[in-house]
Amino acid sequence: MSEQMQQLREILGEVSDLGRAAAVLGWDQETYMPRGGVRARAEQLATLRRLAHTRFTSAEVGRLLDALAAETAALDPASDDASLIRVTRRDYDHSCKLSPELVAEISRATSLARPAWIDARAQSDFALFAPYLEKNVALNQRVAEALGYTSHPYDALLDRSEPDMTAAQLRTLFDELKAAIVPLVRAIAAQGAVIDDSCLYRGYDEQQQLALGLQVVQQYGFDMERGREDLTTHPFCTSFAPGDVRITTRVSRDFLPMALFGTMHESGHGMYEQGVNPAFDRTPLCRGASPGVHESQSRLWENLVGRSRPFWQHWYGKLQAAFPAQLQDVDGATFYRAVNKVSPSPIRVEADEVTYNLHILLRFELEMALLEGQLKVADLPAAWNARMQEYLGITPPNDAQGVLQDIHWSGVGFGGFPGYTLGNIIGAQLFAQVHAAIPDLDSQIAAGEFAGLLGWLRTNLYQHGRKFTANELLQRITGGPLSTAPWISYVRQKFGDLYGLAA
Ligand code: ZN
Repeated sequence: MSEQMQQLREILGEVSDLGRAAAVLGWDQETYMPRGGVRARAEQLATLRRLAHTRFTSAEVGRLLDALAAETAALDPASDDASLIRVTRRDYDHSCKLSPELVAEISRATSLARPAWIDARAQSDFALFAPYLEKNVALNQRVAEALGYTSHPYDALLDRSEPDMTAAQLRTLFDELKAAIVPLVRAIAAQGAVIDDSCLYRGYDEQQQLALGLQVVQQYGFDMERGREDLTTHPFCTSFAPGDVRITTRVSRDFLPMALFGTMHESGHGMYEQGVNPAFDRTPLCRGASPGVHESQSRLWENLVGRSRPFWQHWYGKLQAAFPAQLQDVDGATFYRAVNKVSPSPIRVEADEVTYNLHILLRFELEMALLEGQLKVADLPAAWNARMQEYLGITPPNDAQGVLQDIHWSGVGFGGFPGYTLGNIIGAQLFAQVHAAIPDLDSQIAAGEFAGLLGWLRTNLYQHGRKFTANELLQRITGGPLSTAPWISYVRQKFGDLYGLAA
């Protein structure tokens, strides 16, 4: 390694340490910190993030990157060193456009808005959260202006997380999805079969639910020697290193899917982080490729695996044994149908696979309108409800189950929601590819064996960390670009079968 590469890696290591330390404090805030800690924690996080930002955007890093671009020019672009320089350069150019003051202000605003959002949601009172959201919208606008864009401010925010993706491309993608989903939802409604999912609401002991969720994800391959799970209000996964990955969940006595599928979901994020090449630790390559690619893994393990027929062939007996009082009169086929019921509902995280993307479309459009200034924060609840009615045919009973349901707008991260839809699409593309590579995948899953699947994902995706963009990964793995076709064919087949629709 050249002396300059050595110097750059030392600085990147320090920046990473500061970022990961902030992540530990952020994780603590969402899991164990008492409410009294809010203001002090806001300052601690703002300080750490400002220090990391200042260190990373120093002229020294710029000089080293210039020199190393020349040094790595002859290397294979897919090599670790060339990728490190390319990805770091992209981050550096983005970060240099944001002043340390703006970075600290965003961090502080987020820390203060979070508890306001929690209160507002608990009381279903949007007015309690509105001033914080106004501040966050303004900060999103400032970030977009600072980063710069050619056609829409949303592009600037997208480019940070999903390079090469634009609002116009997303629009096309959502149009394709909408054209497939709306008729499918109508056909399911017209078919008239109502799936009985009452078995999911039968008073399940919380500790047993948590234990079972952990049993499932350990069988998946989530490594508890290099991770742990804790409780929180709005579940997430965070990584401090490939050897220390934290997942979180929430549990409801009266709704079995919350903890079970939530834990599967976060374990998908977690296994991705645990699978990153350890040599990337303390560099910008040491995390998943992008929010969309990350979400492809949570959705894959939660839905494509966890809500599949083969999965429950193996697991239903174990679930029944854990909860005999609740499930002894329920057979496996009934349970499989219950966890796959299609029913437009107000809550995104509880949405079925078919209607889920409509929830994201709604948020995508509202964020665009807020960013443009076309929509005022005060008018947001009404705009939310109008779109819920238009896309899903329902009106949320209150703002807690409407506009206040997501944690996201308590932060400054517009442009993040489309990652969920990208995740669904990419997940289906990758899963089709794994099926082609492992012809007996379904039998393996039906036997409770996941090593083949996890091994394939580690080799083809996880180990690469952030070396490649979403588009580059898809090209490498599937030989083609991002495509909605595999997801559309997956839902048509699965739910057509489930609801007895003519093909
Ligand atoms: Zn997720």
